[in-house]
Amino acid sequence: MTFTSARSRLLSAACLCLFFSLTFSATTRATIQYEVHLDHPEKHLFQVTMTIPDVPGEVLVRMPAWNALYQKETWRIKGTGIIKISYSTYWDEAGPFASQLNAEHAFINPAMILFYVPERRSENVKLSIPNPPDDWRAESSSSGAFESMGGARSFFFEAPSYDALADGPIEVGKFEEFQLTGLRPAVWVVVHGDNWKKKQVEGDLKRICQYELKLMEGAPFERYTFILHVGKGAGGGGMEHANSTAMHRWIPWTIRGSNTVAPFGLPKA
Ligand SMILES: [Zn+2]
Repeated sequence: MTFTSARSRLLSAACLCLFFSLTFSATTRATIQYEVHLDHPEKHLFQVTMTIPDVPGEVLVRMPAWNALYQKETWRIKGTGIIKISYSTYWDEAGPFASQLNAEHAFINPAMILFYVPERRSENVKLSIPNPPDDWRAESSSSGAFESMGGARSFFFEAPSYDALADGPIEVGKFEEFQLTGLRPAVWVVVHGDNWKKKQVEGDLKRICQYELKLMEGAPFERYTFILHVGKGAGGGGMEHANSTAMHRWIPWTIRGSNTVAPFGLPKA
């Protein structure tokens, strides 16, 4: 992932509050899985359970050094079979480089809240968000699914590796979503906020995408997602990922004459 604009204030306010609980089990499942619970948005605590299968007596888990936020946060856990690690992490910071859980939404940069196993970074991973608030939806550039069984709802995401999962921010909340027409590969737009007009956002992004697709003579992705936060409380900045971009603007949406356009190298109209 690459930074596309300098971040301003930032993660000093964020804090990692870890309360580990470990359980062991003898059964085996192949894939490392994460459950992210959003039970009390007002507390800004993501409650995460990480399940690591096939542990051969000991496993190292680590939190990524996201922007040097965490340094050498490594734990060595002894056990065999399936190990489950449960912890809570506090995030209430707006913007594309941060994560936030509040009554409005959950915006997740997975590298900020998910441990990984250094030796198993290249294995496929699954993430689920069980029992989200009733009227919230979820979107990310990772392949997603929604399931509703007997009144219990869950969102599921899957990625071919931890790095791929980490490189796709996840938005959960009440947002609008639409596809940009006439573009191949498909480009989707998720907008959370106020102070924006669909016609304008659609027109601006479509123009950028058409220009870039022509410049690059195609696209190195099968599907692309813009996650936009616009208006009050949105924070500011932009961050490009492999299959998505997160843009946050606390002022009304406008692209001309603003640095929002800088990452894309769009020529002046
Ligand atoms: Zn949001």
